[in-house]
This record gives sequence, structure tokens and C-alpha cells, in this order.
Amino acid sequence: MSKVLIIGAGGVANVVAKKCAQNSADYSELLIATRTKSKADKIASSITNIPVSTAKVDADDPKEVAAIIRDFKPKLVMNIALPYQDLSIMDACLETGVDYLDTANYEPKDVAHFEYSWQWAYQERFKKTGIMALLGSGFDPGQTNVYTAWLKKHHFDRMDTLDIVDCNNGDHGKAFATNFNPEINIREITQNGRYWQDGKWVETSPLEIKADIAYPEVQVRGSYVLFHEELESLVKNFPELKRARFWMTFGDNYIKHLTVLQNVGMTRIDPVKFNGVDIIPLEFLKALLPAPDSLGEGYSGLTCIGCQVVGEKDGKPKTAFVYNVCDHAKCFAETGGQAISYTTAVPAMLGGALMLRGTWKKAGVVNMEEMDPDPFMNEIGKWGLPWKLLEGDAAKLV
Ligand code: NDP
Repeated sequence: MSKVLIIGAGGVANVVAKKCAQNSADYSELLIATRTKSKADKIASSITNIPVSTAKVDADDPKEVAAIIRDFKPKLVMNIALPYQDLSIMDACLETGVDYLDTANYEPKDVAHFEYSWQWAYQERFKKTGIMALLGSGFDPGQTNVYTAWLKKHHFDRMDTLDIVDCNNGDHGKAFATNFNPEINIREITQNGRYWQDGKWVETSPLEIKADIAYPEVQVRGSYVLFHEELESLVKNFPELKRARFWMTFGDNYIKHLTVLQNVGMTRIDPVKFNGVDIIPLEFLKALLPAPDSLGEGYSGLTCIGCQVVGEKDGKPKTAFVYNVCDHAKCFAETGGQAISYTTAVPAMLGGALMLRGTWKKAGVVNMEEMDPDPFMNEIGKWGLPWKLLEGDAAKLV
């Protein structure tokens, strides 16, 4: 039973807090600290079975975060704010000697580029302090890393190719909205695509490679290759992979809106003078778009996210696909959040719980696939994200 500090109070943090409260055997008390305290208060007011307090913090400032940690004395800090805050919160954890967890890798605010190098550079300092940083404990990254490690452990002697497929077949009824933080989401999608092939990265134009993928229990959807952060750690930790790609569905309507916004300069992240004031167009656009935590009501349809591996077992070629299907409406009924927030939050809660119990314990900076996948796979269904395994022809999606 442990006290835990959650930083952030957006769409994902709302579900994280509610899932932690459901798991009161591991999470005995929460402090939700964020930039806009009223949002943390709203989440806290809906949780009654464990004590939840709230605080205002600017998580860009490691000193402010460290002061809150010293005062509350949590066993774990869950960074559910934005990737911009990863390093400042890790600095605060180092200063106070407390374990760290996040769901997305660091990216600097002024460059639309994300990679693990900045966080992996903390390895020696975390080891020396004897604390753990669990990186990317969401769904993708997160559960997809665990799926890959589990397939390798139980189903493959050698993995040749990995295809991570992410389908959101839901409808939120809005003309245009992003399912998680609009700034981070649009920065990710408008970048060049990238995949791993024969020991090096192959770069593509944004959304250049498209295929129709038949998602089990959902439907055939046009899917695009884009670079996603778990590819970076997975090809490092499974160097046998000859090819690793990440696919995501986008509807024509979404792409049409995004194209127009890009063409008129609304996705720019450099300052533009307007009436004598510097504004960043993408930050302004975020202010206009629906917040991810407001999308849940009336959101219908399913998500399907999984990992397809082709390789060899016992001298024979093998294909396997492990996946989860999640229902937006059911997520909303349970937590008030939509399925993207939910599928991110449940692995964050379970990753944190495994750290609190000492089941996942390692001093240093670790990605999810470096830990034993079995305790996670055995328990994740119970918390709302059951998985299924397909083998042979049924597992060949792409
Ligand atoms: P939201 O925009 O809904 O929430 C972000 C929260 O962080 C807000 O409460 C925001 O405060 C707070 N915040 C931002 N800056 C600061 C700061 N300097 N100090 C304190 N608090 C701050 O985003 P989501 O909930 O949708 O996403 C949360 C995280 O989850 C992101 O990092 C995202 O990339 C990640 N994610 C990971 C996925 C995965 O599968 N691994 C999938 C989806 C998301 P305010 O309310 O004042 O703006």
C-alpha cells in the first residue's frame, strides 16, 4: 500500500487516478498535482474510496516538483503530464530518490522531434541513486512493448519482423479532434515516417506508405506507416528484428483537416507576430480544439491495437498476433474517459503497481520490454484490457 504522486490532470490522468483508486491494494493514497488545480480537484472529487489531495505545480520546474515530493513523500511519481516535462520530473526524482514512470518519451518544446536519447542519458544517475525510471508505460508505447517481449519469450526462438498496428475505429461526432493532447498528437503525425529495415532507419514522407489492414473484431481500415517511439527501444532490445514498422489508421476526414491546417500554417511551432504579440500557431490551435478529456461522452466504436510478429519457432516459420479490442462507450461509462485515454491509463496503473510491489524492480532507466512480461500479461485483462492471440494465417494482417 503506497502513496503515489500523479502529475497532470488531463484525459489520461483522469483515468489513471480512477484505475489507481480501483486498485486500492497497491495505491493507498494519491496526490494529483498539475498546472490548473481545478482540473485535479474535479478528478479528486469523483474518487471516494482512497484519500486524494490536489496541488498546483509547474512541472517544468524540477525544484517545484521536488518540493511537492518532499512534502507528500510518495513511493512513485507518475508523469501523466506532457513529454515536455519528462526531464524536469526525472531531475526531481533523482533529487529526492523516488521512482519515476511516464507514458511518452521526451521531446523539446521548440523542435518537433522525440527520441529516447535524452532519457537514456539518465541511466547511470538513476542506477547510482538506486531508483527506477519506467519509460513509456501506456499502450503504445507500453503494452505493445510487453506484447513483443511476451511473444519472444513464449512463441518465438527468433523474431524476424514486427508490425505494430493501431486502429481507432471510433466516432466522437466532432468535425476534427485529436484523442490525446492535440499539440503532441499533431507534432507526431506531421513528421516524416520512419521504419527499421536491415539494421537502419528508412525515412518516408509523412503518411507516404498506406495499406488496408483487416483489424480483428473491427473492420478493414486504411493504415499508414509512421514513426512511433517504441520502435526505437524495441530494435535496440531485440536486435534480431530485420524489420519493425508501426501502422496507424486515419480517416479521410481527419487527413483532409490536417492537410488544410498544415497548408495554412496552423501546425507551425515557431513564433508568429500577431498584433504585436508572439503566438505559436499550434498552441493556438490546441486552444480551439476539443480537449481530449471532453471527447468521451457519445464516443462510440472500438479500438484494436496489437503486435504481429513473423519469425521461427522449433525450426518452423511462425506468425502470431496479440491484440486488445477496447470499446469507447464502455470506457466512458466506467471512468468518464474515452478509449485512447483508457488504453494509455490502464498500463500506466499496472506498470506502477508492479513497481510498487517490487515485482518489476531494477535500478536505472528501463523500457517496458526489459521487464518480465508475464506478471503484466497475467493481470492486465483483469484491469480492463484483455488480450487475445492469433496464430498462423489468421495472424497475418499486413
Ligand atoms: P492532456 O492535454 O489532456 O493533459 C495534459 C495534462 O498535463 C494537463 O492536465 C496539463 O495541464 C498538464 N500539464 C501540461 N504542462 C504542465 C506543466 N508544465 N506542469 C504541470 N502540468 C502540466 O493530455 P493527455 O492526458 O491526452 O496525455 C497525457 C500524456 O499521455 C501525454 O504525454 C501523451 O503523449 C501521453 N499518451 C501516451 C499514449 C501511450 O499509449 N503511450 C497514448 C496517448 C497519450 P493543463 O490542464 O493546465 O493544460
